[in-house]
Amino acid sequence: MSRYWSSLVHRLTPYVPGEQPKLSNLVKLNTNENPYPPSARVASAIADELANGGALLRLYPDPGAERLKEAIATRFADAGITAQQVFVGNGSDEVLAHVFMALLRHPLPILFPDISYSFYPVYCGLYDIAYATVPLDDNFAIRIEDYKSDNGGIVIANPNAPTGCFLPLASIERLLSMHRQSVVVVDEAYVDFGGESAIALINRHPNLLVVHTLSKAYSLAGLRVGYAVGQSELIEALTRVKDSFNSYPLDRLAIAGAVAAIADREHFEGTRQAVMRSREALRGALLELDFEVLPSFANFVFVRHPRHDAGELAAALRQRGILVRHFKLARIDQHLRITIGTDAQCAHLIEALQEILH
Ligand code: PMP
Repeated sequence: MSRYWSSLVHRLTPYVPGEQPKLSNLVKLNTNENPYPPSARVASAIADELANGGALLRLYPDPGAERLKEAIATRFADAGITAQQVFVGNGSDEVLAHVFMALLRHPLPILFPDISYSFYPVYCGLYDIAYATVPLDDNFAIRIEDYKSDNGGIVIANPNAPTGCFLPLASIERLLSMHRQSVVVVDEAYVDFGGESAIALINRHPNLLVVHTLSKAYSLAGLRVGYAVGQSELIEALTRVKDSFNSYPLDRLAIAGAVAAIADREHFEGTRQAVMRSREALRGALLELDFEVLPSFANFVFVRHPRHDAGELAAALRQRGILVRHFKLARIDQHLRITIGTDAQCAHLIEALQEILH
């Protein structure tokens, strides 16, 4: 508390990111990073951008990051996406912040599930947006029938976080048709691990905005690149907010690295398939230890043990050098979210759990 703070700052409850430990020998399964390195083309594109002693860094980057928008549009050419339908930002967190400001700040409350990405209520606090949460059902599924009320917009993470549950596109499409007057934001941070992207629906639905990140399937959490895809009317709103905030959210290295990553389809396919294979193996091993494990469409599993307290399990794992995420939140305080690591990391986790449980 400080007398210098604005009244808004006094009221804020900031998002708390997962721990980023200084120790490098920890098995880090707590923030849904990809255990595999990015495409080798990323480092080489960044090195090119740094040629001649980094002379290019004298110059501001392209404020519109047009090369990157073109690369993203090409990636979704099947869905008829053009560069004018793409918005890019400094991680999807920044893209989402602009979405809340530009498209979700209306007199009616916005709707999102009671259990979802915990940044959504934080943006509402920052931008003074009224919201109502809609409970997931007992199996942590989203029920479209529960989203009937008039609203200022709807935000769905699909696959959802931290559950990993996936809502079929037919349900998203019903939601879009039920609420043509409000924007439906689908946050697809984890879609590349088994889900299906709603980007295919964009040219049929002017109220749909899909948000993606390069942090997960492209192994680039450290580069900070996210984007949104929607009809140009929505993209223009985001651009207006961005250009009232920071003209250059993506630096030269991020633009070069992201373009290279998106171009390397083979690497992308290889790593996402490896993560999905490890996920299914880890799920089997956890089930054998009596964990309840939700089927996951993401690069993490959401688990609970019927006889062991989740907080104590997380602490015991930490003592053994393994970090997992425990949310001290209603309905899920007995669950753990475990990021899929390499097979060796998953084996290490299972060994530690065997020791703790027996
Ligand atoms: N959406 C969801 C559902 C997430 O879990 C995350 C990662 N914490 C993000 C968005 C933000 O990812 P980034 O800012 O790294 O793109």
